[in-house]
This record gives sequence, C-alpha cells and structure tokens, in this order.
Amino acid sequence: MNFDVVIVGGGPSGLAAALTLGRARRAVLLCDAGERRNQAAEHIHNFVTRDQTPPDEFRRVAREQLARYPNVLVRDARIEALDGERDAFRLRVDGADVIAKRVLLCTGMLDEPLLIEGAREAWGRSIFQCPYCHGWEAQDRAWGFVAPAHDAPHAAMAAQFVQQLFAWTDRVTVFAQRGHALSDALAAQLESFGARVERSPIRRVIADDNTRTQIRAIELEDGSKVPCDALFAHPPQRQTALVASLGLALDADGYVTADPARRETARPGIYASGDLSTRMQGAIFAAASGAHAGAMINFDLAQQRATQRASSRARVETSE
Ligand SMILES: Cc1cc2nc3c(=O)[nH]c(=O)nc-3n(C[C@H](O)[C@H](O)[C@H](O)COP(=O)(O)OP(=O)(O)OC[C@H]3O[C@@H](n4cnc5c(N)ncnc54)[C@H](O)[C@@H]3O)c2cc1C
Repeated sequence: MNFDVVIVGGGPSGLAAALTLGRARRAVLLCDAGERRNQAAEHIHNFVTRDQTPPDEFRRVAREQLARYPNVLVRDARIEALDGERDAFRLRVDGADVIAKRVLLCTGMLDEPLLIEGAREAWGRSIFQCPYCHGWEAQDRAWGFVAPAHDAPHAAMAAQFVQQLFAWTDRVTVFAQRGHALSDALAAQLESFGARVERSPIRRVIADDNTRTQIRAIELEDGSKVPCDALFAHPPQRQTALVASLGLALDADGYVTADPARRETARPGIYASGDLSTRMQGAIFAAASGAHAGAMINFDLAQQRATQRASSRARVETSE
C-alpha cells in the first residue's frame, strides 16, 4: 500500500500529527506498537482541556476523532524496519511492506529503570520525572531528588531542577546514588538555596506495605531513614531499536536532531517530533511538535507538487 506519510508511534505526538495531516487530506498510516512511555501513570496532568485524563482515555478520544477522516488509517502494529529514501520509503509492518513519500518518527523514548530497590513499583505513582506533571498532587510534602550519576554538565542542570522544586514544597532533600558521590561544589550550591543534602547513598525506597506504590522514606547506606513522599529522578533514556537503526544524527544527550523550524532530520524525508527529539518532555509539548511536524510535511509535499507542476508547464511551453 502507498501513503503520503507513515507516522511511527501513536502517542500524543503521532496522534496530533495524524490529525493535522488528515485534515490536509493526506493519505496517512499511523502505526502504534502500544507500549506507552507513561504506562505507570494514572492520569495526564498539565494538558489544557485534558488535565486529569487517564492516558488510555486520551488515546481513545484521539483515535475516535481521527476516525472522522477516511484518509487516515490507524493500526495497532509495530514498524519493524525502515529503508529507502525521500518519496520512496519502505516500511515493514506485520510482515508486509508499505510505501511512503515521507516518514514521521514519533516513537518517544525508553526510560531505563531506576536501579534502586523498591523503585519499580512506585515509578509513575510517587517517583516522577516532572513536577509540572505530578507536583500539584504532592505539594507541601517531603520531596527528594536523586542526584545525577555524573557531575558537570549534569550538575548545573540538577541544581536548576532542584531550584524549581521549591515552587511546590519547602522540604527538598537531594540524595546521592550508589557509586556516585556528590561533589562538594554541587552540595554547597544545593544547600545555599535550602535543599538538604544526603551524601550517604540510597539503599532502597520504603513504601506503604499495602500498595508498594506510595513511598514514605528513603533508606540510606548508613542505615538512616529520611522521610520522603515524592521522589524525582531522571534515569537515562534511550532511543527505540528502530530509530537507533536509522543512523540519524543525535545530540549530546541522545535525542534525534531535527531542524527546529521544519522538524526534518538530517535524513531527507524523515521527520521527528515528540519526546525522541527533546529533553523538554510532556504530552502537550509532544502534541504541539507533532502538529508542527504534520504541517511542515504537508508544506513539503505541497511545495514539491508546485515545483513539479511549474517545471512540466515550462516543458510544455518550450516544446510549443
Ligand atoms: C511515568 C510518567 C508520567 C508522565 N506523566 C505526564 C503527565 O502527567 N503530563 C504530561 O504532560 N506528560 C507526562 N509524561 C510525559 C509524557 O508521557 C510524554 O512526554 C509523552 O507521552 C510523549 O509523547 P510521544 O508521542 O512523543 O511519545 P510516547 O507517548 O512515548 O508514544 C510513543 C509511541 O510510539 C510507539 N512506538 C515506538 N516504537 C514503535 C515502532 N517501531 N512502531 C510503532 N510504534 C512504535 C510506542 O509504543 C508508543 O505508543 C509522563 C511520563 C512518564 C514516564
């Protein structure tokens, strides 16, 4: 089957792009493998008109709205391989090939699990990445932050991140990870704006016995227990296998590099939007960049058609 655009990934970014391209009357195939990045989260917060919406409900409504556009096909399927070039990409899905003029990658990022005992069960419930997403619900309680494994340049970002946490609570403790001592410089900086710093590394998180999802304290290697109701952490992220196989240019943090105005990657005809291309991660950001990418792909296709028409017209005039 032939499409104008195949969108790889049906999270907020891919769904928004499909809507934009569908309304521009492009023939679109959106494939989604189904594993959501925010699988552990009960609600999406900080998305205007969708605050408090369960992620599955968000996707259901988006698909229901896309169903109005007969030129948009949505499939629950993984794109297994991608090759070819601008105007003639070949994508492998469910053992068959589809052909596309353009490809939009919206595959999100994969979070490495936090290597802290007890953290897996609490991830997305009381261990978070983003205070804008989950800070309101835990405001004025005891918060913690897992310091990054490496110092500069991550130390500067860690300090800026911790500064922000004081918008939600006055009680912020920064914890060292096992095997990664906090530098004196970072500790002094954190303490200067009111954070408590624990240099003994985290041994495990202690959660409510019944749920295992609500943490209550952090146990340190020295045996002490520090009260903590919400823990923030930025575990490493990686690209999906498909994106990694494409050899696209990545920035220093591993995100796909795309032209900020056009959203096209260094490989002509392949576009990228959403989490896989930025550290600024959130559902509304991903949706906005998906709509942006959709419009830019439509513009690219429209320009191509205009150029082709102009040159064929010029040929006719020359031959007359
Ligand atoms: C625990 C947690 C809680 C969060 N809570 C919030 C919140 O409250 N508010 C908020 O704004 N943000 C929140 N976020 C962030 C938000 O989930 C992401 O920023 C957003 O989902 C990114 O959208 P995306 O479309 O770029 O990628 P994703 O939502 O990750 O979607 C990518 C999709 O691509 C699919 N895919 C991957 N590879 C393939 C392939 N080869 N073929 C087909 N499909 C593929 C995946 O299955 C997935 O469905 C949270 C994140 C986490 C981890």
